[in-house]
Amino acid sequence: MINVTKPFLPEFSDYVKYLESIWERGWLTNNGPLVNDLELKLKEFLTLDHLLYLSNGTIALQIAIKALDLKGEIITTPFSYVATTSSIVWEGCKPVFVDIDKSTLNIDPSKIKEKITPQTSAILATHVYGNPCDVEAIDQIAKEHGLKVIYDGAHSFGVKYKGKSIFEFGDISTTSFHATKLFHTIEGGAVATKDPAILKKMASLRNFGHSGPETFDGVGVNGKNSEFHAAMGLVNLQNIGAIMDSRKKQAQVYDNALATLRVQKPQIQRNTDWNYSYYPVIFDTEEQLLKAVEVLNAHWIYPRRYFYPCLGGLPYVDKTELPVTEDICARVLCLPMYYQLKNEDIEYISRLLLRVQNH
Ligand SMILES: *Cc1c(COP(=O)(O)O)cnc(C)c1O
Repeated sequence: MINVTKPFLPEFSDYVKYLESIWERGWLTNNGPLVNDLELKLKEFLTLDHLLYLSNGTIALQIAIKALDLKGEIITTPFSYVATTSSIVWEGCKPVFVDIDKSTLNIDPSKIKEKITPQTSAILATHVYGNPCDVEAIDQIAKEHGLKVIYDGAHSFGVKYKGKSIFEFGDISTTSFHATKLFHTIEGGAVATKDPAILKKMASLRNFGHSGPETFDGVGVNGKNSEFHAAMGLVNLQNIGAIMDSRKKQAQVYDNALATLRVQKPQIQRNTDWNYSYYPVIFDTEEQLLKAVEVLNAHWIYPRRYFYPCLGGLPYVDKTELPVTEDICARVLCLPMYYQLKNEDIEYISRLLLRVQNH
């Protein structure tokens, strides 16, 4: 069976070494030494000033919204994982959807202004498939209208834009280290910011609002992560070069094998070092997509419709017409891609897809 993704597992013995150190210390969670070490190494690898390691990428979004004290309406993308929208609603704000650009599949900056009202407090956009949003245009609009910017970078680990980590953009960037992501710590996530005051606020929010052992400076939550999760992160970080290289090579194998398949691919932003975190293809019609899925499933291959359905159709949001997103959601499919996937598998998947097309 081949799924769309499969978690990377490092050498068991490498993980056990960290477990032994946890047993020796008896320190299991609450910002222990492995959590601190992981934060340091992530900042080094991603070239970031500030980063906080959290329990998951959803709490990262919620903490980001809280830290910026956002109220009212948040302009967001309807083409993302549900956590992007649900976090806004969970924090008592209203998501206002702006349609996506049909070539990059990210929020279309030219459609943002018409959705800004006196209630708008921020823009929360996702770098879909790790492809950077038009950060310059979004930044410009935010400045003009006094809005905050949060980027959901759950797909964009290791991505660089104009030589800088993509997590440097916006007031806060969030990410996810869930087992299915490019870099993972089983469960996990992070927030990054350049502003030390926002960092301090988020550190307090992560830890129940504690400002000292017996003092609190506000309402907080438990967003901490454990030594066991940090250990997985530290071991996986030792393998990140190999993981990222393999993705790029697998994408090339797909590109070659699928050269004659009539599909579109998202256009990657200029000046980007991309991470090849997904292999999305956009069919001409939903019918062709469904036929491809059916044939692949019959051969125990399970691609995923990332993202389907459009978030504008969630039962707890105002219905919005989003023609580009709805059209893309109906036609886009992510093909299997993970470290252990063999070139033969990619070629096999590709042959099946071509066979569907030529029938
Ligand atoms: C995975 C994902 C999240 C949620 O991250 P978790 O760590 O699973 O909570 C949020 N946004 C996007 C775009 C994601 O893909």
